[in-house]
Amino acid sequence: MNNEMSVQFSSISENESFARVTVAAFIAGLDPTLDELTEIKTVVSEAVTNSIIHGYHGDPNNWIQMHCRIEHSELTLTIEDQGEGIFNVEAAKEPLYTSKPELERSGMGFTIIENFMDSVEVFSEIHQGTTIVMKKQFIHSKTVCN
Ligand code: ATP
Ligand code: MG
Repeated sequence: MNNEMSVQFSSISENESFARVTVAAFIAGLDPTLDELTEIKTVVSEAVTNSIIHGYHGDPNNWIQMHCRIEHSELTLTIEDQGEGIFNVEAAKEPLYTSKPELERSGMGFTIIENFMDSVEVFSEIHQGTTIVMKKQFIHSKTVCN
């Protein structure tokens, strides 16, 4: 069964858990394992945190958009902000790269996301914002279309 949803929420850290729980509820029909569920929730947290901290520099008066689509047991998860953008996406994706070492960030967010998802694409423009599109196939899914 194919399914789709979109939400938009304020760029405040309280919404990390809102986003995590929302995606977890949405993918319940894909019959995820506990590990898969934990991984997806981690990925959502990392991407939303990046939008809050890096995209909007902690300014709470901004929007983050999240879109989820399930198609033939594959999840496409898109998280988007209209913040600062990333100057060099390839450099930003390198393990341990962080532009905010003073906040004790470890620079592992993108690495974790890439590790847990089948594919990750990052579209970003300076002062326009960042969109991250992530895909994962759920092989155990009961909703596989034959
Ligand atoms: P950690 O995630 O381990 O706390 P981090 O957030 O710095 O540290 P990554 O999540 O891998 O590490 O992100 C790497 C870098 O990419 C960030 O330091 C930041 O410069 C940039 N970045 C990531 N997401 C965004 C975003 N939405 N908007 C602007 N810059 C971003
Ligand atoms: Mg991060």
